Amino acid sequence: MTMFTHDVLVVGGGLAGLRAALEASKNCDTVLVSKVHPLRSHSVAAQGGINAALSSDDSWEKHAYDTVKGSDYLADQDAVELLCREAPARIIEMEHFGTLFSRTGEGRIAQRPFGGAEFPRTCYAADRTGHNLLHALYEQVLRRGIKIYEEWLIVSLAVEDQRCIGAVGYHIPSGEVAGFKAKATILATGGYGRIYQKSTNALINTGHGCAIAYYAGAPLEDMEFVQFHPTTLYGTNILITEGARGEGGYLLNSSGERFMRRYAREQMELAPRDIVARALETEIKEGRGFEGGYVRLDLRHLGEEKIVERLPGIRQIALDFAGIDPVKEPIPVQPGQHYSMGGIASSKTGETPLMGLYAAGECACVSVHGANRLGGNSLLETLVFGKLAGEHAARQVKTLEHGSEAILEEALGQRKEKIKALLEKNGEESVAAMREEMRKIMTEKVGIFREEKELSEALQEVRELKKRYKNLALKNKGGVFNYELVNALELEGMLNLAEVISLCALNRRESRGSHYRTDYPNRDDANWLRHTIAHYSPEAPKLSYKSVAITKYPPEERIY
Ligand SMILES: Cc1cc2nc3c(=O)[nH]c(=O)nc-3n(C[C@H](O)[C@H](O)[C@H](O)COP(=O)(O)OP(=O)(O)OC[C@H]3O[C@@H](n4cnc5c(N)ncnc54)[C@H](O)[C@@H]3O)c2cc1C
Repeated sequence: MTMFTHDVLVVGGGLAGLRAALEASKNCDTVLVSKVHPLRSHSVAAQGGINAALSSDDSWEKHAYDTVKGSDYLADQDAVELLCREAPARIIEMEHFGTLFSRTGEGRIAQRPFGGAEFPRTCYAADRTGHNLLHALYEQVLRRGIKIYEEWLIVSLAVEDQRCIGAVGYHIPSGEVAGFKAKATILATGGYGRIYQKSTNALINTGHGCAIAYYAGAPLEDMEFVQFHPTTLYGTNILITEGARGEGGYLLNSSGERFMRRYAREQMELAPRDIVARALETEIKEGRGFEGGYVRLDLRHLGEEKIVERLPGIRQIALDFAGIDPVKEPIPVQPGQHYSMGGIASSKTGETPLMGLYAAGECACVSVHGANRLGGNSLLETLVFGKLAGEHAARQVKTLEHGSEAILEEALGQRKEKIKALLEKNGEESVAAMREEMRKIMTEKVGIFREEKELSEALQEVRELKKRYKNLALKNKGGVFNYELVNALELEGMLNLAEVISLCALNRRESRGSHYRTDYPNRDDANWLRHTIAHYSPEAPKLSYKSVAITKYPPEERIY
């Protein structure tokens, strides 16, 4: 049996994973595992920008207030304060690492307005911010010589006496299964957008890291809060960044009306995403959209020069995928799943309740986004909390011995058996068909607008799919680049996450942020100003609730 041994194992090559590895590697033997080449992580697709109060007219306190209000008061305020205080240092550091941010005429880092923010504090690199950040950070990881295990899918965690002692990996190119013994494991595995049909997320965003943490006993937090982005390209659901509205784009319905005036009088198109997404969905549902279900994002008045300078990627996406030049025509847009506010419950330094296991980035729930994330805060979260998790883990491993080899070997043996059984099974169900069914259920019944009957149906239907999963059959029985097998392993996790999302959404009988219940349309602080915690059990997820950390921003009505 192959067994790799290291101090710190970072799972994920996106911004959070790279930042964590960079930090941990300063003090101990650190390696990074990723199921794809790090530069193919979803972070590379981030467009609009990253928030930090850099200007002397702005402050981290204002950033924190906007974030807490944006979260519909569900974010933990101590964590938000830390996020916003650390932001300027992380941006300057990325600049020193070589990120090419867009500039003002005076040569300062340029900042654009973003949804839900009272101040233009979103730093950007045209509309390719993630691309610039990820490449700069990857270079630093190469520079430090951190070993990267590429195209290894981590399929389970090994646990000894409530402590994570490493993980089991499946090597996609060869089919080999191996153990990774580690004193600390940091999950930075990204979001789970592909549980939904219409999503801006990369196909690799399956939430597998959340699923394996959940099986291993680390609880998931606030999974009912799924962000829908208002403007995804009609037809493909590729993201059209909020930066397009930040630069001054209008949203128009079929009568040519700037309808956001009716939903958010002050901030209009730059209200937070939950509000704008609901507005679009309402316009479309009530017949004021265009045939097929979309509205228009009009950038024409910005002029060619500004569009080419600030939004070159968006123009190219519209040209390539819709045959539309935004300089001359409005872009057809509709809402789509975009971000996972929920994730592995973790502290400000990344620790999960399972000792030795950390989480950072989109897979974690610290929680700084609460019920609704503000645009530009997620890239920031990856850097701030990736660094802190790496730092803490490197300190922690100094005092720890490695866990039991026998337990890791047992975990390895179990995974090997499971994979063998999946390959040998002769059932009737196909991975692709079941995955599509799950996505349809989640999109139609656990979407932007939710209500009791549909949520109960969704839960039942997802549980039905979990039963049918046992009758899965793979056509590809090979060991080399068997993506059908990879998809099958990930589908099991996605079904479990879909069950948790549906159950948490069914139980939360109020509306808050992205979670909108048509049968309970008001926020209910008396009963629901609390986080949902979901623990795995073989029968059904076990839910409990946790209070929200409030420092200096008491809950208020949210008006934009
Ligand atoms: C189109 C788009 C645009 C966005 N634009 C912005 C923006 O402008 N501003 C902003 O703040 N946010 C934006 N976001 C959100 C933000 O980009 C993400 O939340 C953030 O980049 C996530 O980073 P991460 O490091 O947590 O995960 P990711 O970048 O998703 O990386 C996850 C990594 O984990 C690895 N992995 C996953 N599972 C396993 C496994 N089981 N075994 C091994 N490896 C595994 C993957 O290979 C990958 O390397 C955008 C998101 C999208 C989809």
